[in-house]
Amino acid sequence: MSIYILMGVSGVGKTTLGKSLAKHLQTPFYDADDFHSEKNIQKMSKGFPLNDEDRESWLENIKNAMQSWEDSGGAVLACSALKEKYRQHLKQSGVSITWIYLYESFETISHRLEQRSGHYFKAALLNSQFETLEPPKYGLHIRVDDTAEKTMHKIMKKLELPEIGLIGLGVMGKSLALNMASKQIPIAVYNREVQGSEEGVARDFANSHPDHQIPWFDDLQVFVKSLPKPRNIFLMVNAGKAVDSVIQQLIPHLDKGDLIIDGGNSHYTDTQRRAKKLKEKEILFLGTGVSGGEEGALKGPSIMPGGDRKAYDRVGNVLEAIAAKDHQENPCCTYIGPGASGHFVKMLHNGIEYGEMQLIAEFYQLLRFRLHYQPEQIADLFLDWNKDMKSYLLSISVEILRFQEKNELLLDKILDAAGQKGTGSWSSIAALNLGVPFDTITTAVMARNISAEKELRLTFAEIFKHTEHFLEISEEELFKAYKLASLINHATGFELLRAASSEYNWQLNFSEIARIWTNGCIIKSGLMQQLSELLKDSAGQHVLSLEAFREMIETNKSSLAFVVGKSVEAENPLPVASAALNYFWNLTSATTSANMIQAQRDYFGAHTYERTDGKRGEFHHTNWSKS
Ligand code: NDP
Repeated sequence: MSIYILMGVSGVGKTTLGKSLAKHLQTPFYDADDFHSEKNIQKMSKGFPLNDEDRESWLENIKNAMQSWEDSGGAVLACSALKEKYRQHLKQSGVSITWIYLYESFETISHRLEQRSGHYFKAALLNSQFETLEPPKYGLHIRVDDTAEKTMHKIMKKLELPEIGLIGLGVMGKSLALNMASKQIPIAVYNREVQGSEEGVARDFANSHPDHQIPWFDDLQVFVKSLPKPRNIFLMVNAGKAVDSVIQQLIPHLDKGDLIIDGGNSHYTDTQRRAKKLKEKEILFLGTGVSGGEEGALKGPSIMPGGDRKAYDRVGNVLEAIAAKDHQENPCCTYIGPGASGHFVKMLHNGIEYGEMQLIAEFYQLLRFRLHYQPEQIADLFLDWNKDMKSYLLSISVEILRFQEKNELLLDKILDAAGQKGTGSWSSIAALNLGVPFDTITTAVMARNISAEKELRLTFAEIFKHTEHFLEISEEELFKAYKLASLINHATGFELLRAASSEYNWQLNFSEIARIWTNGCIIKSGLMQQLSELLKDSAGQHVLSLEAFREMIETNKSSLAFVVGKSVEAENPLPVASAALNYFWNLTSATTSANMIQAQRDYFGAHTYERTDGKRGEFHHTNWSKS
């Protein structure tokens, strides 16, 4: 393997970029400064430039070291090597060298140097460096006029080293590939060939984006071999069997230290199983949730990677580069935690989404069919609510309520039978397994289930006809109810995260999770922004106990009760809002009806019970039939 030498004047970024390149190439990094004699260091620190005689011993030390680096598999070296004769000296080592010449203007670099501290190089010496500099007429010439991250992508691209090999050019895969390519991240793509149905997918994709010059493959083995080691392979194939099948096909061609990133909506227990299997083969694995749909994948998704920390350290810069940005321009991507935490968090994201969507649908239905608002009026009202909520889902609902097809509302032509791909149910099952109350999200899944029973509903609607109702509820009351129900739905979701984090010892950072959901995903909202701030200091707290919400909850709880009560009375289902309210009443009840449950359990099954007049942990049984 080649020795990569990043050269150029001091302050141009040789060390930062060199370390990053070494990380990509999984080779050691060396700094030529460490090969100076003590005499040279003293001289430089006193502000005297080195002469060529001083440099002789230095170059000789490096040259000798380079020979041993090549024997042990290559290295990256940051070395000014300003003059051609210094470079010729290093070339005498006889090893294969890839020269990467980094350059920038004198003004920019001197500004950088002035701001740098703790470095023995004095900014005043920059002048002499520029005078000495003889730019090479070979190698890669890279202008360092951007962030280190972007410059790194430029280097990888010029080196023709794909940082990522992407498998699966479906809806999400194509968008992600274009997102990466547009950020100058070198990629190669692969799609399977299925005779008669899926032919030339990778070729057609690459050919339709000639500007990006994306290498494409339809042979998996050739694709894998084309990637530099250690390989980073991003799967964007359908969750379930397809992921297992692709991993199975990949394994024989992979080496230890290669990385597979599963970017699909895989079930977290599948991710746990795959991570275990790949670990045995010393292959790294990141179960990575990607949100935001096709457009998000193209313009910047929220990304939730979980698994091996060292895998994240290797590709985190790529994931962060393609992610959406939060309001402070930080990437909506963070290392979630070990194991299957990334896919768990993505699943729960979708769970919250289920609750939020159903809530909006419920308030729409109530407004339209019990308060008899016109769709346009509801759109105006939702727009008004969104000044406060800043919710993506509310904003698209406004557009849906205005969307006409042939002068008619398209919404009215859409069959009221909701589809689902499973993440809502998965979240509910996870909550049941962990014993966590999950009222709103589970109810949202059930609401979709009952909607799908269209034929049954039509039959029952004939048998048990609803009476027509004309409700009057103020817009303010409705908004207060909606706002509190939405908060409760979010609180429910974060409670499941808290339980999972403790059960699996993931040490999730809830504030960071909320932050990466503030953009590039469907549940972005003003509330999410607020949570990202509030949870910084209150990570272990139930969301509803946060002081910042206290007043709102106090003010809005009677509105939620009023709206739910009125709606139910008017034969109008409001399942998620009701679930939110019941959860809230239960949560705030010092005493519940569970003593009756315990008594029944003990009566028929001798399950025992604890007594209010006894000690916690002391269990009693009564022979009920004889008493
Ligand atoms: P698509 O159906 O559009 O694409 C699936 C891709 O997987 C295709 O390239 C397909 O290849 C490939 N594939 C399927 N089966 C196999 C197999 N056995 N071997 C090799 N390749 C296979 O799906 P999406 O892009 O929409 O979704 C991909 C993943 O992303 C899913 O897990 C999905 O849940 C998740 N996701 C999707 C979102 C969306 O909005 N669409 C949003 C967030 C996540 P071929 O063309 O040959 O069929």
